[in-house]
Amino acid sequence: MQKQKKCGPGTRAYREASKQLKSGQSMSINATDDCNYLFLIIHAGLGNRMLEITSAFLYALLTNRILLLDRYKEIADLFCEPFPGTSWLVPSDFPLNDDEFGQSSAESYGNMLQNKAFGGGTDRSLVGNRLPPYVYLHLDGNYGFHDKLFFCEDDQQFLRGVPWLVMRTDMYFVPSLFLVPAFQDELGRLFPEKDTVFHHLARYLFHPTNGVWYSVTRCFRSYLAKAEKRVGIQIRIYETKGILQRNGPFPHILNQILSCAQNEKLLPEISMAEGAADGTRNNRTAAGSGTRNNRTIAVLTTSLSAWYSEQIQEKYDEQSAVDGVSVRVFQPSHEEYQRSRNKGHNMKALAEIYLLSMTDVLITSGFSTFGYAAQGLAGLKPWIMLKSENHVTPDPPCVRAMSIEPCFHQAPFYDCKARKDTDLGKVVPYVRHCEDVSWGLKIVDQTHL
Ligand code: GDP
Repeated sequence: MQKQKKCGPGTRAYREASKQLKSGQSMSINATDDCNYLFLIIHAGLGNRMLEITSAFLYALLTNRILLLDRYKEIADLFCEPFPGTSWLVPSDFPLNDDEFGQSSAESYGNMLQNKAFGGGTDRSLVGNRLPPYVYLHLDGNYGFHDKLFFCEDDQQFLRGVPWLVMRTDMYFVPSLFLVPAFQDELGRLFPEKDTVFHHLARYLFHPTNGVWYSVTRCFRSYLAKAEKRVGIQIRIYETKGILQRNGPFPHILNQILSCAQNEKLLPEISMAEGAADGTRNNRTAAGSGTRNNRTIAVLTTSLSAWYSEQIQEKYDEQSAVDGVSVRVFQPSHEEYQRSRNKGHNMKALAEIYLLSMTDVLITSGFSTFGYAAQGLAGLKPWIMLKSENHVTPDPPCVRAMSIEPCFHQAPFYDCKARKDTDLGKVVPYVRHCEDVSWGLKIVDQTHL
C-alpha cells in the first residue's frame, strides 16, 4: 500500500489536498496530481458496511485513489487498520461533514448532471476546463437514473480527474464494475477466478480487533472445534408479527430451516420412530431407532431471536437422529433487535459473522448482507433460504448458491453504449441475476457453473 503511505493522512499530499477541499475552489483540469481520494460515508448494518467498504476499496484500486473511511462509525472498535504505517480513517479535522450528503445534495453527480453543472444536458464537458473540488456519489438503494450513470464508461472518464470523491452506498456494487469496459482488463488480472473478489478483499481488509477475536476463538474452541462437522445456520427474518414480534416466533421459518438442512443432508434426519428419546438434553445414550455414537455435529446458529435454535435443539433431543449422531446447537447471542450504533452489539455481530465463516457448510437467509459477508469470508457456497410469502414455507426451502459472491441488490439495468435499458444479467457469462434477489446481479465464475 505504497500509495496510501505516500498520500494518506499525515502526509504533505494529504494536507494540501484537504486544504484545497476546504477552500471549495474548483481546480484547473491540469492541476491534479497523483494523490486523489475516495471518502466513504459508512452507514447501515454491519454486513452492509463490510460490503460497501469492500466495493469502495476495489473502486479506489481501479481508479488509483486513496480510500478514507468516515471515522465516527465505530469502525475502529471492530477492525484493525489494514494498511501498515498509515491509516484508512479520515483525520478528525476533515473539512466535509458526512451528514450533509444525501440524494438531494447539489454536489451529487446525478444532480450535477441533471442541473447541467458541467455544461449542458448529460454532456460532461467542463465549464472553462475547471474541475469541481469534489463530487458526491449517491449510490444508496434509493438512487436515481442520473446517479446510476456512475457505472458508465464516459462518466468514469470524467470522474477520473476529480481530486475528491465522496461516496455513500449501502451495497455491493462490484458486479457492475465488471461491466465497465475500462476496468475489465485490470479486474481480469486481479481476479483470475472472478467469483473470489469479496473473499480476497475482505480477508485482506477486515482484521477483527482483539476483543472481537477473543470472542471468536473462545466460542470456536468451546463449541465447534471438536465436532466432526460444523453447520452454520444464519437466520435473518424480515417478516413481522405485530410491532413487538419482529423475529417471530415463526413456525414456518423453523420448518424451512429443518427441511432445508435435512433435505440437503446437512443435518441428519430425525427419527420418527415411536418412543424416541426421553426428551432430556442430557440423555445421550440409547434413543429411538438409533443408538447414539460418539459423533457430534455442531450447529452454529445466529439470529436476533433465541427461539429457533432452542427449537432445533429440542427436536434433536426429543427424537434422535436416525444415524445416532449427536446434534449440538450453539447460538452465541440473541440481541432481539438491531442496534446499529452500539459498540457491544456490533462486536457481537462481527464475531458471529466470523464464526459462521468457520463452519463447513452454511445455510443463509436470502437477501441478508450479514449472510453474504459470512459466506464470502468462508469461501463457501451456501444453501440460501428464500423469502417466504404469506407465512408459508417455500418449496424448495432452500437453493444452492451459484457462487460465494454477495448480490448487488439494486443493480442498474442501463446499457450505457446503447443508451437504453437492458437485462444486464445476460450481457457477460460471469454476471448473472442472484438466486435470492431476481433483479440483483452477482458474479459467478463460469468455470464453476
Ligand atoms: P442485513 O440487514 O441482514 O442485510 O444485515 P446487516 O448486517 O447489514 O444488518 C443487520 C444488523 O442486525 C446486524 O449488523 C446486527 O447489528 C443485527 N443482526 C442481524 N442478525 C444478527 C445475528 O444473527 N446476530 C447478531 N449478533 N446481530 C444480528
